[in-house]
Amino acid sequence: MATNFDVRLETLTGRAAQAFASTRLDDSANIVSGARTFYLETFGCQMNDHDSEKVAGVLLRRGYRQVETPAEAQLVLYNTCSIREKAAQKVFARLGDMKIMQGTGKWIGVLGCLAQQEGEEFFERTPWVNLVCGSASYRKLPALLAELEAGNSRVAGLDTDTDETFETELTRRDNPVRAYITIIEGCDKSCSYCVVPFTRGPERSRASAAVLEEVRQLADSGFTEIQFLGQTVNSYRDSSPRRMSFAELLVAAAGVAGIRRVRFTTSHPRDFGRDIVEAIEATPQLCDHVHLPVQSGSTRVLSAMRRTYSRYEYLDKVALLKSARRPISMTTDIIVGFPGETESDFDETLTLMDAVQFDGAFTFSFSPRPNTDAQHLPDAVSEEEKAIRLAVLMQRQREIQQKRNDALVGETFEVLADGASRREGQWAGRTSSNRVVNFTSAAPVALGEYLQVRITKAGPNSLVGERAI
Ligand code: SAM
Ligand code: SF4
Repeated sequence: MATNFDVRLETLTGRAAQAFASTRLDDSANIVSGARTFYLETFGCQMNDHDSEKVAGVLLRRGYRQVETPAEAQLVLYNTCSIREKAAQKVFARLGDMKIMQGTGKWIGVLGCLAQQEGEEFFERTPWVNLVCGSASYRKLPALLAELEAGNSRVAGLDTDTDETFETELTRRDNPVRAYITIIEGCDKSCSYCVVPFTRGPERSRASAAVLEEVRQLADSGFTEIQFLGQTVNSYRDSSPRRMSFAELLVAAAGVAGIRRVRFTTSHPRDFGRDIVEAIEATPQLCDHVHLPVQSGSTRVLSAMRRTYSRYEYLDKVALLKSARRPISMTTDIIVGFPGETESDFDETLTLMDAVQFDGAFTFSFSPRPNTDAQHLPDAVSEEEKAIRLAVLMQRQREIQQKRNDALVGETFEVLADGASRREGQWAGRTSSNRVVNFTSAAPVALGEYLQVRITKAGPNSLVGERAI
């Protein structure tokens, strides 16, 4: 029977097909017949997605085989997120569903941010959980798995005082056209609303030589697009004597033979400098897109959030990006309803959006989180008011995106095909600026192929086009 994998493989271009196939060969080479099975579900951000690719690699190396449902699995793992209350609730609901598995001999494991946040509490609250491991302790995962296999039914890895990063022999790649590389883990900033410094531990950067070696391996196995990841990716500090700056690392990665696109996320405004813009200007392989979360347009709120920049300092970074010799698309994150946010503070966020004209925004309603200072701040904004502000913000951003995308109709862009569109007979891909384009093509299209697409229509969240040549 053809698996999803085979279907995707059939449509990949030659080198990307080799890359994907080599991951599978690697997987199957390590699967012992009748071996243990695992199910892995991921919640949250791209860093969690990529951590899960590495966790899957660790398990495949140990001879485990991945299955599609918890019912089929010996080991059921949830890689969790706790950035907002809702994300945490989702995980508890999932764990509640697993109660019926108690006593069946299955192992249930909780990984990631919620694991770090709740720790061994899981063993009390959901006693059918056997493994709890925070992301700062993933390097211990093989040892923790060995303990489970040896019959220990409560195993925990919860250290955050580490200076190591999570390196694996095998990373199972889930995206056939884009490969993720974590270059910096943890976070040393201390935004007053955020759980990340607590759940992911202190900032640790990988050595530049190790990063570039991974880029070379990915290029050799057929990937043409890579994305560097980090909670504050541009705070990267080479941990080797080479002391490469983040901008230098970007340029070096772009210079690896076979690499056509380099992306990076998430950038922190404080550490975002002219050198990054100059690197993008000078290096065509560096994509024209920067994700630069602003969080609020009010200096007063930014200060209470401890973001370490003012509205005007943020706008200076925007001016830097806008002055670049080629257009650079900008996206952001915004939180509404931070404690004490007044109507006039919120208005400043709207005027900042008007001034910057972001190409996309992830918008959030403030959620008080454990271990953060903001949870104790007075003057909470009511849930009702937060919902109103969020709706206003989203509508304003939608209008901006529609207007910006309308201006692209008639232009032609290079698109990397990354899947079939939801519409029959259409393909989906992304421009260098990270815009989604759904397009038709008279000629066959292969996943991983770069093609020229002329834009014929625009919506707020995506473009429609036809293959130009
Ligand atoms: N490190 C990135 C940065 O500094 O911008 C973002 C990391 S966080 C995983 C992603 C986004 O979640 C943040 O940019 C913020 O907008 C949002 N977020 C984090 N904590 C939040 C909270 N307590 N309530 C609402 N949104 C939150
Ligand atoms: Fe959280 Fe701030 Fe660190 Fe981003 S920079 S992960 S928002 S503490």
